Amino acid sequence: MGCIEQITCRSCGNSWQCETGSGMDSVFLDKTIPLFSEEIQQELKSFQAGGGREFDFSQEVLACGSCQELVAVPVITFNGVTRIGSCPKCGAKLGPVLPLKKMICPRCHQTGCLESQEIGFWD
Ligand SMILES: [Zn+2]
Ligand SMILES: [Zn+2]
Repeated sequence: MGCIEQITCRSCGNSWQCETGSGMDSVFLDKTIPLFSEEIQQELKSFQAGGGREFDFSQEVLACGSCQELVAVPVITFNGVTRIGSCPKCGAKLGPVLPLKKMICPRCHQTGCLESQEIGFWD
């Protein structure tokens, strides 16, 4: 079960709701492949075709500089590599994943002012 996080910026007062972690479908590689760009889909399909089973999937919060929002982005680790999906709103390439206290607010561009609160669950 994943979390719904409310992330608030102490500096500019903006807040976002993001679905983070992993849901019930996240254990199925077939269901996670379509969440990624064509390029990553190819890698995942060849990983799957090669009999790959072990992977780690979760949705992580990233700041998108082009739409100036915090968004939950699919992130998958397989074969020792981590691939980060694109912004679900504008399709921009994002990354790397940072801890919240190192993340830059996409609105006021301050670091260390984002705070997260769990407000619910998704699955
Ligand atoms: Zn801010
Ligand atoms: Zn974006």
